[in-house]
Amino acid sequence: MQTVIYKPDNQGIEAAGKILKSGGLVAIPTETVYGLAANALDGQAVSKIFKAKGRPQDNPLIVHISEFEQLFPLVLEVPENAVLLARAFWPGPLTIIMKKSAIIPDEVSAGLDTVAVRMPSHKVARQIISKAGVPLAAPSANISGSPSPTTALHVYNDLSGKISAIVDGGKCDVGLESTVITLNAQVPRILRPGGIPPEKLEQVLDRIDIDDAVLNILSEEEIPSSPGMKYKHYSPKADVTIVKGSLEEFSEYIKQFDNDDLVAALCFDGEEEFIPARCIPYGAHGDSRQQAKRLFSALREEDNIGAKRVFARCPKAQGIGLAVYNRLLRAAAFKVIEL
Ligand code: AMP
Ligand code: MG
Repeated sequence: MQTVIYKPDNQGIEAAGKILKSGGLVAIPTETVYGLAANALDGQAVSKIFKAKGRPQDNPLIVHISEFEQLFPLVLEVPENAVLLARAFWPGPLTIIMKKSAIIPDEVSAGLDTVAVRMPSHKVARQIISKAGVPLAAPSANISGSPSPTTALHVYNDLSGKISAIVDGGKCDVGLESTVITLNAQVPRILRPGGIPPEKLEQVLDRIDIDDAVLNILSEEEIPSSPGMKYKHYSPKADVTIVKGSLEEFSEYIKQFDNDDLVAALCFDGEEEFIPARCIPYGAHGDSRQQAKRLFSALREEDNIGAKRVFARCPKAQGIGLAVYNRLLRAAAFKVIEL
């Protein structure tokens, strides 16, 4: 299959809608990362997503809508908290988990009795959903396990030949995935940190919990509430380790590799000249928003420069930085060195 690349204009949006209507796959730009979309109400179309990505069958998908009214048929009921959250954060990078209705195919919910729903703020994404005329199931448009795609080229490098089309909407604004919160619990709980920081959610809901799996390794026997939050994920081919400490300590630590070409650093902007290794910067120190936007692309860049071992400067895990740290922890399969 030849993968066509469309511009995000009327013609491209029209073509994408047509493919999606007829059961095909299209990668679409959103404000978080590129999504690999299919008709969420067509189990057969959705199963193609799993095949193209090599995604484990037990990992459910997020359903994307373009108008609030589209939510009603997807769920058993719309909880009051969902209305509050939607009013505050939709359209935007927040995914809400609720009890699913019978029209959600098992392929979407991976056999769970819940469904995850989000309304993206990216205009082109919403226009494509409208044109398709159905809600769209759309996980990140990458090969499962690799860093999520934040440009159309990332998608092309991972999935060309496996999907019908990509709509090129440029670089994603947020750069990492949505915050996932479940309302199918006594206290609403964040299963995955993302584009909306916990502090913001707390301003709308009285109380929220943060799932243990956000910052901790689950043991083999534990069943993750969010199947996608497993141990290793978002990782480049290179082996990643997070190194905690000051820039001086980090530089001192890297010295032992003595300019080994296979070793590289993932650092903050402007630190390159102090680190005795090849460096890929991923944003200014302390600027979590910028780090979120650039992290995945920087991880891919480490592979492009041929790094085999990557040592990463540790981000501040506050605000959206919690999501940055959460993704980097998984990219590193939880390997952290404290200096
Ligand atoms: P992705 O679309 O690749 O960003 O992954 C979607 C994320 O949402 C994964 O971490 C899933 O495990 C999670 N998710 C989707 N639906 C549900 C659900 N019904 N219950 C719990 N987690 C879900
Ligand atoms: Mg993903």
